[in-house]
Amino acid sequence: MTATDDVLVIQGDGIGKEVVPAAVRVLEATDAPLRFAAASAGDAVAEERGTPLPQETRERAADADAVLFGAAGETAADVVLPLREAVGSYANVRPARAYPGVDAVKPETDLVIVRENTEGVYSGIESEITDGVTTLTRVVTESASRQIAEFGFEYAAERDASVTVAHKANVMRQTDGTFRDAVAAVAAERDAEYETMLMDAMATDMIQHPESYDVVITPNLAGDVLSDLAAGLVGGLGLLPSANVGSDGGMFEPVHGSAPDIAGEGIANPSATLLSGAMLLDHLGHETAAENVRSAVRSVLSDGPRTPDLGGDASTDAVTDAVVARL
Ligand code: ATP
Repeated sequence: MTATDDVLVIQGDGIGKEVVPAAVRVLEATDAPLRFAAASAGDAVAEERGTPLPQETRERAADADAVLFGAAGETAADVVLPLREAVGSYANVRPARAYPGVDAVKPETDLVIVRENTEGVYSGIESEITDGVTTLTRVVTESASRQIAEFGFEYAAERDASVTVAHKANVMRQTDGTFRDAVAAVAAERDAEYETMLMDAMATDMIQHPESYDVVITPNLAGDVLSDLAAGLVGGLGLLPSANVGSDGGMFEPVHGSAPDIAGEGIANPSATLLSGAMLLDHLGHETAAENVRSAVRSVLSDGPRTPDLGGDASTDAVTDAVVARL
């Protein structure tokens, strides 16, 4: 008998409360043996309990086989970063691909950002040294750079994909120099080929020639920015899933945030979270269920119904119903 996997569900704030229940419905409609439990985090929890991430949520995330997360609002940095740490994640995988039927700026886009997930400018070391003067410490270590390079090259090798490495070592000589050299060392050990691009030049080139990218290995902030750029190429943030992986556990979440401008209206596009659910299924070894979810989402994106961000007028629930019906 297949063991049941424990999935901790954290809706968070804003449209997280709409798209995460949609994803749970879709995961329940597969035959994957999953057991769901709920925990809370985010702005509302901070108001009620004085902390956006209760210790108990963090511990349950660390114990779960996988976490399905929505979004956090103002408290995002205090929720998402510690949760990624709790599940032992050092790699943030963000696939961006155009879908038939969706009006994409560049329909030929099909790339995956593999983003370092633990350090860089998101290390949280900021201070105000005097009135009006603030600083931020960018931490880049050889060990974390090697770790993301090993993950990225392995991920690319499994898919027979080419690798591009983004950095800005011509300006951030020490920090991105460390990143660039660690990646080069890992590539040499694996006898792997890759290209490097300065991250700003890459932003332009990704818009002009997205088809020339497969797997893109990046430092933390660059990966965050380039994946939102890739979202723009394929039809918007409502389409991009992500996986925070590394050691055993994993946290799966849409690339988008809490979208306060549309929260509560029931019109958020659930696709990014449904596709994050597919990545969760893959991670837990339920590849057939994962492919079924992807195929159902693809089919609904192609035939409709579609939410307003994709030019339709359907609700989150109507899109989810259509995906469930195809399963
Ligand atoms: P963060 O800083 O957490 O990324 P943000 O407020 O900068 O959050 P998002 O919450 O991702 O950004 O929203 C950016 C824009 O994209 C908003 O106009 C929002 O309505 C839109 N958007 C994001 N996700 C979706 C979605 N699932 N469906 C429809 N529109 C979305």
